[in-house]
Amino acid sequence: MNTLITLFIIFFSFAAMEGIAWFSHKYIMHGFLWKLHRDHHQKTNNWWELNDIFVIVFALPSFLALVFGLKDPILLPIGIGILLYGLAYFFVHEILIHNRFKWGVISDNRYFRAVRRAHKVHHSYSDKNPSDNFGFVFLIPLHYLRNSFKDES
Ligand SMILES: [Zn+2]
Ligand SMILES: [Zn+2]
Repeated sequence: MNTLITLFIIFFSFAAMEGIAWFSHKYIMHGFLWKLHRDHHQKTNNWWELNDIFVIVFALPSFLALVFGLKDPILLPIGIGILLYGLAYFFVHEILIHNRFKWGVISDNRYFRAVRRAHKVHHSYSDKNPSDNFGFVFLIPLHYLRNSFKDES
């Protein structure tokens, strides 16, 4: 299959995953599955969070698409797109924002600063509602980006 189409499918599934993550975060995790997401907002002393269940749930479609897609020219790039999104989510949310592994990766460019700020505002609510900034990797309100541009001038 055309490389360009393959790349487009990878890119599209990556982008779609942020939409799905945003939707699930807003309407499911802060909705009827709040009891699984709550410990990500109300920190406990446990390293593992019930919230980590969602990581497994999100990894599953990628795994299945990769396994069943090995011979399928459409399913394979979908699986790769979801996998890349999972890695981006892991890097941005677990490492850069929450420093979960204490790797001390600090990136202070405009984008990361904006993403971090937006997510910190999301975490300033310890309850189910109200809350905003449900995106993780790039669905963040524009004014965070604009403000972080402002800081540098
Ligand atoms: Zn949340
Ligand atoms: Zn978080």
